[in-house]
Amino acid sequence: MRRIRELMIEPLEPQVRLDQIVKLIAKHMATEVCSLYVLRADGVLELYATEGLNPGSVHLAQLRLGEGLVGTIAATARPLNLTDAQNHPAFTYLPETGEEIYATFLGVPVLRAGRTLGVLVVQTKAAGRHYPEEESEALETVAMVIAEMIAAGGLEGLSRPGVTLDLTRPVSFDGVPLCDGIGIGRVVLHEPRVVVSSLFNEDVDSEVSRLTEALAILRESIEDMLARRDVADEGEHRAVLETYRKFAQDRGWVRRLEEAVRNGLTAEAAVEKVQSDMRARMMHLTDPYIRERLHDFDDLANRLLRQLIGQGSVNGDVTDAVVVARNMGAAELLDYHRGQIRGLVLEEGAATSHVVIVARALGIPVAGQVKGAVSMSEKGDAIIVDGESGAVHLRPPPEVHDLFSDKLRFRAERQQRYRSLRDEPARTRDGVSIGLQMNAGLLVDLPQLAESGAEGIGLFRTELQFMVASTMPRASDQERLYRAVIEAAEDKPVTFRTLDVGGDKLLPYLSHAPEENPALGYRAMRLALDRPGLLRTQLRALLKAASGSAIRIMFPMVTDLSEIHAARALIRRESEHLARFGYAPPRSLMIGAMLEVPSLLYQLDPLMAELDFVSIGSNDLFQFFFAVDRGNANVANRYDDLSVPFLRALRDVVRAGERHDVPVSLCGEMAGRPLSALALIGLGFRNISMAPPSIGPVKAMLMALDAGALAGELHTLLDDGEEAGSARALLKDFAERHAIPY
Ligand code: PEP
Ligand code: MG
Repeated sequence: MRRIRELMIEPLEPQVRLDQIVKLIAKHMATEVCSLYVLRADGVLELYATEGLNPGSVHLAQLRLGEGLVGTIAATARPLNLTDAQNHPAFTYLPETGEEIYATFLGVPVLRAGRTLGVLVVQTKAAGRHYPEEESEALETVAMVIAEMIAAGGLEGLSRPGVTLDLTRPVSFDGVPLCDGIGIGRVVLHEPRVVVSSLFNEDVDSEVSRLTEALAILRESIEDMLARRDVADEGEHRAVLETYRKFAQDRGWVRRLEEAVRNGLTAEAAVEKVQSDMRARMMHLTDPYIRERLHDFDDLANRLLRQLIGQGSVNGDVTDAVVVARNMGAAELLDYHRGQIRGLVLEEGAATSHVVIVARALGIPVAGQVKGAVSMSEKGDAIIVDGESGAVHLRPPPEVHDLFSDKLRFRAERQQRYRSLRDEPARTRDGVSIGLQMNAGLLVDLPQLAESGAEGIGLFRTELQFMVASTMPRASDQERLYRAVIEAAEDKPVTFRTLDVGGDKLLPYLSHAPEENPALGYRAMRLALDRPGLLRTQLRALLKAASGSAIRIMFPMVTDLSEIHAARALIRRESEHLARFGYAPPRSLMIGAMLEVPSLLYQLDPLMAELDFVSIGSNDLFQFFFAVDRGNANVANRYDDLSVPFLRALRDVVRAGERHDVPVSLCGEMAGRPLSALALIGLGFRNISMAPPSIGPVKAMLMALDAGALAGELHTLLDDGEEAGSARALLKDFAERHAIPY
């Protein structure tokens, strides 16, 4: 090790350095042959240096991944230690190397962060010799040094021109689209790999004590966390920590760490080496349980590394960051500077996870379920996230980069066109004014009110504040948020929807019994009316925040009129309570309900008589109307929200509103799709609410629309078209005939 260390710092040409390393290993291990193969971007292992084989075959001899003994080692990331190599089923003979009969063979993978970058091999003629475990360990340690050389770019350009190494290979992943948009930038690892810069120890014994001490501190910190009440009460956190405790005590792990130190590595390099070996071996396994445990081990190893060398290197000031993470909490995303993030790539992540909700609010493109993204990425690598398809392109070739640059430019131009419409009135060609409002839920959404040109907030999802927090927001926090929203909206109307939790929106700090059908379960108003403490606190916070201003309060998932009576009673009670304490009441208070459950369709007249306004939650109404789980990709798109029966239901609500002079709006996702919005206007909706980026496209559509002409055609279809399953074809045809962008 000492000689290798000297070789690493001597000012040598890279090829000379490699040649000397293999020579040194051969001499030290008393073997006839020592060779290094490096993995190229095209999946070929190329001979980069040899002692003992034909020197003329360097940079000429090649093996494919999986081919021969060397290819097998690279493909499996496992060492091979053989006493009779020629008779191994994977053996292949490479004539150009002048290879003779070498019976004894030991090969180890060159690994970095679990990725195979090459293979290091020693061979001897004498049969029956077996390389002991220590020699295999020692060879792996040298391989680690070589891995660092490769990662630092030290071997670039040694082969023929045009050859690129695997570390710089472009990789594309098929993820799941979680938030639309295109992000082009450079990798920022959310949990930066701790960079181990000092590899060799000066004194084995003192290094072993450093390691032992760090392990003791690590174990102690885990015990401390386990002893904390908040953790002890949390089933899931506790389970993870229990696993950490088991791993931290794992004899095999500790033994491998100590062995690596005894082979000359520093304690931190030993942790990295053992972890890299483990990753490489386990990455091929598909068992989700084992993969999860691997993540746990990674976390633990990172903790130990930080213990040994302090905090990991920070990511620095990247202005075009694409954050790559296994997963992260919503608050962690907010810690980044919004202006610096171009995209987010998650190995896990689902459409409803909190971090994705926040990313959507911030307009950050997100791809999720991108398996392997963290270990394949290096800090600073070029990367593209396509939030439209879910694809991620790591180290993209120039053609791919150009393609996405064009796409990005096209999108920016389109947004620019929409922005130019911002101050135009949302009026159809035949003079019908349509109220276009936006959906929101967090403070970060508010700037969009001015930027999008929305006329107000048609749906403020108050549960988002609860979902992104790790503990229940206090009454004062709620009030502060509501006041900030009312102030930011100035004179524009804001409709606050009371807590809509349960179903797929679970709060980690609120206990929920598992339910067979959560969408039909104990959620929203059902939960709120049974545990009125939560709803009353929220209503009080809303009324206080709106003291002297106008406010609209709306209840979600109403199924039965008695729920409206109960909710109104709670509002009355809180208003009286506040009046007793001298709070001025809101200047105006409107009370509404969401129409999301089909039972309300058959009591529209009494419903309208109870309310100041109604907003249709088409996401849920559609789910219950067609009995399709909105979150289940296998069925969610099976039926059409422009189908005749569904449009008839929507029209019935509009007509009931007209009869009672109660405004009816719609705030589900369909309001933001231009063709569906066109249908809604045709049905008679004069107010709809949508995600802010949809306002531009919907406005462009309606400014080209003759609402009267459309209504005529659409009503005819709904009245007479018994055979017509869907109005989609008619609507498309109408749009095309009238050159309406949709
Ligand atoms: C809806 O159901 O259409 C709606 C707007 O509410 P959410 O998407 O929050 O359930
Ligand atoms: Mg809903």
